[in-house]
Amino acid sequence: MKLTLLGAPGAGKGTQAAELEKEYNIPAISTGQIIREAIAAKTALGNEVKTYIDRGELVPDDIVVEMVKERVKDDDCKFGYILDGFPRTISQAETMEKLLILVDCALEIDVDEDIIVDRLSGRRVCSSCGATYHITGNPSKKEGVCDKCGSTLKVRDDDVPDVIRHRLKVYSEQTKPLKDFYDARGKLITVKGQDKVEDTTRAIMKALKDIEA
Ligand code: AMP
Repeated sequence: MKLTLLGAPGAGKGTQAAELEKEYNIPAISTGQIIREAIAAKTALGNEVKTYIDRGELVPDDIVVEMVKERVKDDDCKFGYILDGFPRTISQAETMEKLLILVDCALEIDVDEDIIVDRLSGRRVCSSCGATYHITGNPSKKEGVCDKCGSTLKVRDDDVPDVIRHRLKVYSEQTKPLKDFYDARGKLITVKGQDKVEDTTRAIMKALKDIEA
């Protein structure tokens, strides 16, 4: 199973990628998380891309393509992968095809924009393992502490109102056209994002079982 998850920031791609990772036993690869780790580790790459993330802009295509190209060579990707947040432009998707980094399906999680803004403002992420929570919709068991690794939860630097607005604009101009790109290849599946995480997970699993059948 090789999948890419499409959807606006805050649609729940990271949360659902974690569910799919467990179900299919294949790795979820989040370019956003790889970038945040590089920034936190202050690597040369991290320093180079920090300004883009802080402004809510996309990181240049060649940089993210190189990241994914290297990551999918790892042994754990042998039976498939879940791409979360990649590709994010038509140019990234075209380069992927040329490099034969293919997907069987592009699964879009469709969530209305007013819900998205609430989700992003209430989102908390683990400063260590990157697990995501929402203060009301998907809270950690102990406030401010990651259920998975016990580290502190924080607000992502790009989950602040001005940057959120800009990211949504970038999504609609540069990433949304990917829906048509995958639809034209017969690979697009759209699932409506539900209020409860588990309801969206159920809808996704059903949609994937339907195409596997
Ligand atoms: P995410 O965690 O997927 O919301 O990504 C956070 C930020 O990382 C985005 O706003 C971009 O600045 C950057 N980013 C993640 N994935 C990509 C990508 N495929 N192409 C360009 N920039 C990306």
